Amino acid sequence: MPAAVCARCNAAMKVIRTGAPVLEKFEDGNPYKLWAADLLQCPICQIKVLMNFGTEPMASHYQLGFANLVLRTMGQEQLYEF
Ligand SMILES: [Zn+2]
Repeated sequence: MPAAVCARCNAAMKVIRTGAPVLEKFEDGNPYKLWAADLLQCPICQIKVLMNFGTEPMASHYQLGFANLVLRTMGQEQLYEF
């Protein structure tokens, strides 16, 4: 069973990254929680989707070191946001 299907291309999307860092933000734009998710891509149109988030975030805004973790992650790799 495919994890996801591109509704535009009718193609099974492929996992191109597991554990991709995703930053959830407050409405005012400040960092709220840091998640890990799978990044999937359509092999035809190349559209990407983040899904399969963990049940718990890797870190939350109230925890010590959260801001440093977010900054360090941004410096090391693509950080997705929503
Ligand atoms: Zn597609």
